Amino acid sequence: MRPIVAHLSLPALTHNLARVRQYAPHAKVISVVKANGYGHGLLNVAQGLRETDAFAVLNPSEAIALRDAGYEQPILLLEGVFAAGQLVEVDRYRLDLVVHHAAQIDWLQQATLSAPIRVFLKLDSGMHRLGFQPAEFESALAQLASCANVSEIVLMTHFANADMPDGITQAMQTVEQVMADKPYPRSLANSAAVVQQPQSHADWVRPGIMLYGATPVAETSAASLGLKPVMTLQSALISLQEIQAGESVGYGSLFTADKPTRVGIVACGYADGYPRHAPTGTPVAVNGKLTRTLGRVSMDMMAVDVTEIAEANIGSAVELWGELVPVDTVAQAAGTIGYELLCAVTARVPFNIHG
Ligand SMILES: *Cc1c(COP(=O)(O)O)cnc(C)c1O
Repeated sequence: MRPIVAHLSLPALTHNLARVRQYAPHAKVISVVKANGYGHGLLNVAQGLRETDAFAVLNPSEAIALRDAGYEQPILLLEGVFAAGQLVEVDRYRLDLVVHHAAQIDWLQQATLSAPIRVFLKLDSGMHRLGFQPAEFESALAQLASCANVSEIVLMTHFANADMPDGITQAMQTVEQVMADKPYPRSLANSAAVVQQPQSHADWVRPGIMLYGATPVAETSAASLGLKPVMTLQSALISLQEIQAGESVGYGSLFTADKPTRVGIVACGYADGYPRHAPTGTPVAVNGKLTRTLGRVSMDMMAVDVTEIAEANIGSAVELWGELVPVDTVAQAAGTIGYELLCAVTARVPFNIHG
């Protein structure tokens, strides 16, 4: 077996969930576990989040996996159903639905359910992705309020810019105009809004990324938000090279040494989900010491600088991201966000769950 492994900390998940509750003490928490629990494994993360008030996923199959594993909380389908026929599973597994377009209301009105279900009616507050326009919202709400298949209604929106200091001012005005006189609970906030837009917390918050210990706000570290990394992507050195000034490492010879350099070769590449766009200088830790990557990341391997880490040897542990190297710093070096790196860890990487 190659030495690469993704360690998952269940206590870190539990800590981050508690952190959400500190930020939003009056709200119930819908833990967003879509995209296979942001790449950590749906059922893995559910264990660490078992005290959550609800879960949110995209596909009925994910909700069913949670039900089959014994989770009894509400489970919200964030995009609702994609076809009328899926309401059979929604009914059987007691799922909650986002309703964001008119056909979804028709399907609900025409369905035969064993008991009415809870729906989250989605307003487009400016992102222009999913949701009813402000002018359509009132009539959509009236239809749901009089639909025999609907038990409870929650009013919902999703912010386009909750990570910017003034990013939700406009959207909150739209929310207030449309929802003000309506006696229903609300769900507005994603992670960025949980940590920095308290006026949006309302009744149900919907954190995703912060549960996994990565930052929802560029320029603000997860640690400074009181979050702990859940995933540590770890591997080991499988080769050491001594190169002289003028010699290069890896495909494209993108790194050329300007002095004698000791190079460690790590069993991790883009086929494991490490970003190929991470340039020379991306942070990495060898034997617990911070250093940098060298040259181009290849499919199964990458190079790191161990010139200053004398004890580095075959088998030395390498942290690609985790406690010492925040995933957000790797993401920033590679021109992306922590979300993408976490979701992109590939199936060939084994997971090791720590409880
Ligand atoms: C993914 C998602 C979230 C969670 O977003 P984070 O930025 O990860 O907190 C919340 N609400 C909706 C509708 C989503 O699709």
